[in-house]
Amino acid sequence: MEKIWLENYDSSVPAEINPEQYSSIVDIFEQSIEKYSTNTSYINMGKSISFAELDALSQNFAAYLQNAGLQKGDAVAIMMPNLIQYPVALFGILRAGMIVVNVNPLYTPRELQHQLSDSNTKAIVIVENFACTLSEVIKETAVEKVLLTSLGDMLSPIKRLFTNFAIKHVKKLVPEYDLPGAERFLTAIKTGSSQTYTRPEITGKDLAFLQYTGGTTGVSKGAMLSHRNLVASLEQTSSILENVIDPGEELVVTALPLYHIFALQGNCLTFIKYGCPNLLITNPRDMEGFVAEMAKYPFTVLTGVNTLFNSLLNTPGFSDLDFSRMKFALGGGAAVQKPVAEKWQETTGLILLEGYGLTECCPTVTVNPPELPAYKGSIGMPVPSTEIKLVDDEGNEVALGEAGEMHVRGPQVMQGYLNRPEASAEMIVDGWLATGDIATCDKDGFFYIVDRKKDMILVSGFNVFPNEIEEVAAMHEGVLEAAAIGVPHEVSGEIVKLVVVRKKEDLTEKELIAHCRQHLTGYKIPKKVEFIAELPKSNVGKILRRELRT
Ligand code: AMP
Repeated sequence: MEKIWLENYDSSVPAEINPEQYSSIVDIFEQSIEKYSTNTSYINMGKSISFAELDALSQNFAAYLQNAGLQKGDAVAIMMPNLIQYPVALFGILRAGMIVVNVNPLYTPRELQHQLSDSNTKAIVIVENFACTLSEVIKETAVEKVLLTSLGDMLSPIKRLFTNFAIKHVKKLVPEYDLPGAERFLTAIKTGSSQTYTRPEITGKDLAFLQYTGGTTGVSKGAMLSHRNLVASLEQTSSILENVIDPGEELVVTALPLYHIFALQGNCLTFIKYGCPNLLITNPRDMEGFVAEMAKYPFTVLTGVNTLFNSLLNTPGFSDLDFSRMKFALGGGAAVQKPVAEKWQETTGLILLEGYGLTECCPTVTVNPPELPAYKGSIGMPVPSTEIKLVDDEGNEVALGEAGEMHVRGPQVMQGYLNRPEASAEMIVDGWLATGDIATCDKDGFFYIVDRKKDMILVSGFNVFPNEIEEVAAMHEGVLEAAAIGVPHEVSGEIVKLVVVRKKEDLTEKELIAHCRQHLTGYKIPKKVEFIAELPKSNVGKILRRELRT
């Protein structure tokens, strides 16, 4: 494969990686545990755990799962914000040879039921604050084991008592739930400590994650990410980072949710490989708390989406933080905006590097070289062993400088969508994954996203698929037809707008938004509604969302 990485930027980045270097991400994890056992692995709410502790806790949980009637290859879900329990559950599930299903804790019952049923999830580790959502739908799923945890479970005894007591007494935070037979996560770990753990043979072909995403069309689908996919992805990012980071010396701030592939791969797995701690931010919306947390630690790396960087820059105290140890900040998930990137550089003295990826690619596809002197509005260049072609509507490659849909080929491309052969075959042809993103490439090999072919709406880096929003809108008796589109928004990049043809003339914007709130998690809820007489449609009756956007 031709080496596309710019020679004058960094000639030490290899053109290719070896995706067979490790047979699974469990091998990488075990290697780190041996090498860095006394290092801190995770920090959250003032509590830290070492690699050795993470090893013991996750192995105990793996033993518990193996002895609880679950089999290698079974799906086990995790539904919680960023807490130390997350990596314990994550590595426990993986070490048991099972598949992790990451669930957004803010999902509504409808969204949760779809994901659990579709993935045939057998067990779930869930933070109590969201157990009421599960209790509403558990009977319609295959979930047999529920393991409950509380926010303060991993904290020191006094802090735990205080945190769990405080949370229990704010009723709103732990609404009533009914989950007969549910066990405590910590009890399961204790049980596992006296059970036998048998290290399963895990091959590169085995699935590590069923990572839910909309793909280029609406319904949420489970992207099957194998161990080989993840090993390849980690090798790809490592080959670039290795020139910049010092193993055992970095501290990465993890504010993006670990259930999203960006933080999962970019922070949780990558920095574990290097024996470096993740500082887990549980509530990144509490910006002042976030900045106060950063002030306590000698952070060196921060990853985020444009919205997060923008909010940080506008939070009092952020500019006073000590950035002297910081190596880099990486933005992705959505376009990094120029004014944000420039203010970032002005405030921290460091460039805000941009990368691009998608769940189906574990996620990294392109990254800017860390040596880049200033923001250039590019998503960077392909990571090693990754080919990109830009194609027109007929599938022909476009000329240099012209825009085309990005098709990606490499060892990080998923195995397909679970139980959806048609959608998978549409998305991956001869190993080339159609991303639905339109880009150009300059003569130096830098790529630029210029548009999106898919109707997806990007709210603060989260994917929103119009079909789902339209389906929910159509459930309201006052709606005849609806189309969801993204409209630009200065804080979140885009927000969801519903364009509606009413069945009942007295339907109001407020009423419709309240209806959507019952069925959709926060970032998907439309912020604007426009009522019109008729929706524009193609001659086959397809809603022309593009026309509504202009
Ligand atoms: P997800 O599967 O949630 O990671 O979302 C992937 C999608 O996010 C991509 O297909 C793009 O549309 C968008 N995306 C990711 N990174 C960028 C970026 N740097 N600039 C613009 N869009 C991006």
